[in-house]
Amino acid sequence: MKSEFAFINRIRAQAARYPQAGLVHGIGEDAAVIGQRQSHVTLVTTDLLVEEVDFKLSYAPPRCLGHKALAVSLSDIAAMGGRPRYSLLTLGIPPACGEAFWGEFFIGYFSLAERYGVGLIGGDTSAAPDRLVIDSIVIGDAAMNSVVCRSGAQIGDDIYVTGKLGQSAAGLELLRRGERLREEADSPAQRALRAHLMPEPPIRFGRYVASRGLAHAMIDVSDGLAQDLAHLCQESGVSAIIDFEAVPVAAGAKLVTDSSEAAFTLAISGGEDFELLLTMSRDAESALVSTANDCQVRLTRIGEIVAVDKNEPATRLWLRRQGQLEPLAVQGYDHFAQYSGFHSDKEAATEN
Ligand code: ADP
Ligand code: MG
Repeated sequence: MKSEFAFINRIRAQAARYPQAGLVHGIGEDAAVIGQRQSHVTLVTTDLLVEEVDFKLSYAPPRCLGHKALAVSLSDIAAMGGRPRYSLLTLGIPPACGEAFWGEFFIGYFSLAERYGVGLIGGDTSAAPDRLVIDSIVIGDAAMNSVVCRSGAQIGDDIYVTGKLGQSAAGLELLRRGERLREEADSPAQRALRAHLMPEPPIRFGRYVASRGLAHAMIDVSDGLAQDLAHLCQESGVSAIIDFEAVPVAAGAKLVTDSSEAAFTLAISGGEDFELLLTMSRDAESALVSTANDCQVRLTRIGEIVAVDKNEPATRLWLRRQGQLEPLAVQGYDHFAQYSGFHSDKEAATEN
């Protein structure tokens, strides 16, 4: 690898080839300078990707990693109903990642950035002795009155989700079993691998839904449908019913499980689908469906928002099968659960 400054200069030259509307000063100053727009709010989000925790270099091609590092943060901006504008990238670089790695990484990163008009305006770079660490920051904006929060769900709302669920978790399972992404190849397994390695969040859909006033509450599905819907319910002070038959289970989830029950569980608990989950009153459904069509996004109504049951205040999620309700235990991805030295939320709760 060249020096830190040569490395940054190359990123700077690459970043300058892409549009950075409204930017006053980008890479090269002590801080980037962004012009402000009246009546708009600024959205800021960051996602940390740590080698061996969030990805493994043994199966994640560098081009995919560059794409995914940006995609995960774009997903957060979309979930708020914003438009992504700028990004910052902070890297802890281990000796194993050299010139060829970064060449590929930035092809993935910049080609996604270009598609959504996002300019890379800064970051930081240091060495990390034994593993790659990537902090991906995205700055977006939205009209003041169109931001969509997790806390806005109303009793009686329907619940909708984009895409199909469990595809990314299936891809991860296939990677663990030794399958690898092959460019050009197309099969149910390859599509699952691609969903995990190069997610395509419905970024325009999130923004259109917000600007057209078509969501009371929204969240991106990053920790699994059940967990993220539970978060939304928690913030909104409501509960939710999921219809078993309505949940769109991805083909990949069926591929790696041996029963429809197990495929369903993977679909609602597998992480990193980066789809959007939203709640809205039924009267907006036709506008919502045509917005999904405009964005070429698949949209499914999967349940409804209800009041918290006074007799079971702890139950946020209910599963409805053939008209019968049962409490749905929330399982999703927890980064801390698998590492000693960290406590899962469950353990922390019993300690108190
Ligand atoms: P500082 O000493 O203020 O941290 P640096 O020398 O680290 O500045 O960075 C010089 C410029 O390069 C800054 O504008 C910074 O935002 C940018 N930069 C550093 N690392 C990266 C990176 N990985 N990606 C994009 N820009 C970067
Ligand atoms: Mg620095």
